[in-house]
Amino acid sequence: MTQALRMSTLFLRTLRQDPADADVVSDKLLQRAGYLRKAAPGIWTWMPLGLAVLNKIERIIREEMNGIGAQEVHFPALLPRAPYEATHRWEEYGENLFRLKDRHAADYLLAPTHEEMFTLLVKDLYSSYKDLPVTLYQIQTKYRDEFRPRAGLIRGREFIMKDAYSFTVDEEGMKRCYMEERSAYERIFKRLDLKYVPVFAMSGPMGGSASEEFLAPLSIGEDTFALAPSGKAWNVEALKTPEVAEIDASATPAASKKSTPNAGSIDEMVAFANETYPRTDGREWQASDILKNVAIVIKHAEDDDHDEPWRELIVVGVPGDREVDMKRLEAQFAPSELEEATEEDLKKHPELVLGYIGPMAVGPQAREQGKEDAVRYFVDAHVAKGSAWFTGADEKDVDYYDLVYGRDFQADGTVEAVVVRDGDMSPDGSGPLSFERGVEIGQVFQLGLKYSNALDLKVLNQNGKTVPVWMGCYGIGVSRVLACIAESHHDEHGLAWPANIAPAQVHVVAAGKDAVVAETAEKLVADLEARGIEVIFDDRPKVSPGVKFKDAELIGVPLIAVVGRDTVNNGTIEVRKRDGSDKEAVPADSAAQVIADRVANL
Ligand code: ATP
Ligand code: MG
Repeated sequence: MTQALRMSTLFLRTLRQDPADADVVSDKLLQRAGYLRKAAPGIWTWMPLGLAVLNKIERIIREEMNGIGAQEVHFPALLPRAPYEATHRWEEYGENLFRLKDRHAADYLLAPTHEEMFTLLVKDLYSSYKDLPVTLYQIQTKYRDEFRPRAGLIRGREFIMKDAYSFTVDEEGMKRCYMEERSAYERIFKRLDLKYVPVFAMSGPMGGSASEEFLAPLSIGEDTFALAPSGKAWNVEALKTPEVAEIDASATPAASKKSTPNAGSIDEMVAFANETYPRTDGREWQASDILKNVAIVIKHAEDDDHDEPWRELIVVGVPGDREVDMKRLEAQFAPSELEEATEEDLKKHPELVLGYIGPMAVGPQAREQGKEDAVRYFVDAHVAKGSAWFTGADEKDVDYYDLVYGRDFQADGTVEAVVVRDGDMSPDGSGPLSFERGVEIGQVFQLGLKYSNALDLKVLNQNGKTVPVWMGCYGIGVSRVLACIAESHHDEHGLAWPANIAPAQVHVVAAGKDAVVAETAEKLVADLEARGIEVIFDDRPKVSPGVKFKDAELIGVPLIAVVGRDTVNNGTIEVRKRDGSDKEAVPADSAAQVIADRVANL
């Protein structure tokens, strides 16, 4: 017996108009269909229909988590400062962290994520390898003071997350847990009928190693991912340029310095070279012949040699037809942040002549000249060994021609420094990359030892030695997932939920004032209730059939049954799918059976 939701008493108001500030279709429809109400920017009140769907999504997640042996716990959302102080996240989280004080002026926070608490809980209870592995999870409310809450539930400031953490005695254990969790994610998203792309990711501010983000490919997403013809995908920061083949430089002339007055910019350099020093190989100079050398500052934290955070200036050489991508570059120097060198920084390095910075005054070649403290020089991964460049000669109005990487200059390292373009070769060599947008719905992450080291989570291993515990962490944005499902399951009339998470299976509409209509509909609903079928019953006496049909389509349960004029005239009930397809007229007394059969096959 499952009690029907009766529209006459259901706590629900549907809206005919889109809310003014709703920016994406899921936000519009979830508000219009009465699933959610806005409480404040990025903060939502769950209405009965919204909760019904949320609970079903959570149930699927729980089943799959329990299925891989993870155990559910539940932490408070309101947490003391100390554990976050130990991992430096009290500061590092920046303005996204909701910080508050209790009445005794002690610092608290509303948890944006719970690594610290899980780590400390396991430390409290466990001390031996015999206790491991263990995976714990919770489904819980998280708080982040996002700069720009948007897209309804998709970027909220209060939102629901499933977060799981695995604890193992060694790295292999961590990898095994990671793979189990990853396959649970695939099952979850399949059951939710939510398209997903696992995207290789850089580890980001949490530290650690391997990580994949699960993105729902949606054009409203804020994340761009790069897709290879093989189907593999990467987020832009994690893209690795395939190694470029070495070029045979045996015929390249010796490097020469040439005067290039007033040619500071790439375009000016190209124009000047074509006019003054035309190439002899039958083609024109182009931007990609120029090696652009960019001065960047790494903001290091204090270390053994520095009592204070310090700035290191480096120079990065990139092909002149490409722009530097600071986020990609920064990912390689994480956790340090990068910024462009300021005038102040450059003043300390008179060897760098603005507009004419070249590889000879920096890096290994400068050190070879006895300049021990030369700034480090890196080249972008597109710079091939043996390639000849037109580039700065560290004097005003003078450039080098035919300066060959590997012959005339070396680098301290190769980095991913430039904006990736449509058509660039994919890291797996399967063909050119294309770019798509998506919403991050989950992430699996090999944390490694970061939190166990910071919070001193250690166990005795098989040999009686004390070792730090290997951790993995695994998140799913539960409320965001709900919105993404709405984003991909709707039409112009409203929502269209997958059957297993719809708030009900059948929407019974009593259309018309005739007493037969009300009686037949009541009887049908009682029959369906007795069979355990979830029903929304539009029994509102004073609402027109037109409005009821509109609401049924807006609310979006998979089957609609209409008790109306046909029932009065022919004794039939119309049963159809939410989109109007598979319509049939069923005799009233067999309608419950027909519906039950159809529900079983949804
Ligand atoms: P994003 O890059 O979108 O800000 P994140 O990488 O910071 O997300 P995680 O810390 O990995 O997020 O959190 C785990 C999951 O929680 C994410 O994969 C996402 O689905 C969800 N999530 C994160 N931030 C929000 C938010 N502001 N509103 C709703 N869900 C969120
Ligand atoms: Mg993430």
